[in-house]
Amino acid sequence: MFVCFMRRTRWLRRVASRSACTRELEPRVRFAPSPTGFLHLGGLRTALYNYLFAKQRGGTFILRLEDTDQTRLVPAAADAIEDMLEWAGIPPDESRRRGGACGPYVQSERLQLYAQATSSLLQSGHAYYCFCTNQRLELLKKEAQRSGHVPRYDNRCRQLHPEQVQEKLSRGVARTVRFKLSAGTEPFKDLIFGWNRHDVASVEGDPVILKSDGFPTYHLASVVDDHHMRISHVLRGCEWLISTCKHLQLYRALRWTPPSYAHLPLLLNRDGNKLSKRQGDIFIQQFREHGTLPEALLDMITHAGSGFNSNRIGRRLDELIDEFNISKITTHSALLDLDKLPDFNRVHLQHRIDDEDQCVLMADELRRLVLHTHGSQMSDCDVLHPQYMQRILQLRKGHITSVQELLDPMYSYLWLRPHVTRQQLQEVTSEAANIIAAVIQLVRGHGSLVCTEHLNSELKLITNKLKNTKYNIMMRVLRLTLSGLQKGPSVAEMIVCLGEQEVCVRLQAALEH
Ligand code: GLU
Repeated sequence: MFVCFMRRTRWLRRVASRSACTRELEPRVRFAPSPTGFLHLGGLRTALYNYLFAKQRGGTFILRLEDTDQTRLVPAAADAIEDMLEWAGIPPDESRRRGGACGPYVQSERLQLYAQATSSLLQSGHAYYCFCTNQRLELLKKEAQRSGHVPRYDNRCRQLHPEQVQEKLSRGVARTVRFKLSAGTEPFKDLIFGWNRHDVASVEGDPVILKSDGFPTYHLASVVDDHHMRISHVLRGCEWLISTCKHLQLYRALRWTPPSYAHLPLLLNRDGNKLSKRQGDIFIQQFREHGTLPEALLDMITHAGSGFNSNRIGRRLDELIDEFNISKITTHSALLDLDKLPDFNRVHLQHRIDDEDQCVLMADELRRLVLHTHGSQMSDCDVLHPQYMQRILQLRKGHITSVQELLDPMYSYLWLRPHVTRQQLQEVTSEAANIIAAVIQLVRGHGSLVCTEHLNSELKLITNKLKNTKYNIMMRVLRLTLSGLQKGPSVAEMIVCLGEQEVCVRLQAALEH
């Protein structure tokens, strides 16, 4: 009796001290994906909201790999998930890779803890061995389906006498361990969905918590880990809302204090359909390969949903952390419009180019891409100069949606000198040589060519002077001379990007060929 009283007092003290200090001041949250696939947008969003919540309060963000279903593991997925969090700029503070005081951070390496919790539940009478064969369970399922009921386990092994259990155990009969669900669950308050009550026992049979192979099921593993990893807040997808009552029963049976829960509303396509993992473009790796900037992806994900006092495009991670407000998350599904991603990318690309250090890095990346795409045809290596790369980024910022866009054939004039003959130009107009000579005169000594509008009006003046030349013919001649293209970039834009010297070289060359 006294021991019981002391235990309860200790438990209450623990509850009180945790809610007073850990929960409020330094939250510990976790992102707990199963490495059964690669990180997709939905997963990234869950990770991000956990990260924002932790960082806003000086807390800790943990990555835990839930690999208890060994049959569905995808090799390399575990590493790829952590790689993607790092790429996105939201790396975990504790994880398999980073270590931490509450490891291991992979469930298959924590079997001992689940076994301990299971034996304590068996001892306290909250769990029992189940010897039902797969055939029997299948039969129950089929019978239920035939009579139009939802299949559920009939809790038969709850009724076994201790001697029967001992006898089966000593014979080594295959068994699982089930948790005794109690009827009439108490409600709990979700930080997003408010008060919730789900009487699991009225719709489900007792769930298996330890499988016959010694691995736990999700429910037990998640509760045991959240407890031992001192998780203060669980932020996860709302598909887990219904399971929470089951988890709370496990906490009560284990005499542990549960964390607070915040279930995130669904992330859907713009048309309200589920984002499908089968659509390749929801995988984060693909976004990276296509030149999406991580900050653009994070901005778009948060922009699609709630959780902020106001919504605007262009928020960077530090601003997301500052402005995140969990009480603003509503229960409405977040609708993601992937068609807007280029707009987000354009804005964030501009931010990067405006930042001196980042611009240097982007120029380096651009140089690598240009070399890869055009390296073999390049005659003028000056275009690989970091200053030229940076200049092009500065001039095209606000227009391009990714650095990769600069590899588009429309921009090849930036990296390759075209081979245009006088003959080709003559075919456009017999005035070609006069046009070129006049433009050389205009450009040479023009100083820095920065304003396309000014250039356009100067070019118009030339057509006025050259009486037999129409503006559009002049543009065709110049476009062909500068880029080798019939259609495409604006001539003024090309002149500005290439600069006085290179423009003159190309125009002169056309006159000489
Ligand atoms: N492993 C679960 C998942 O991948 C985690 C659910 C939870 O956060 O509790 O969705």
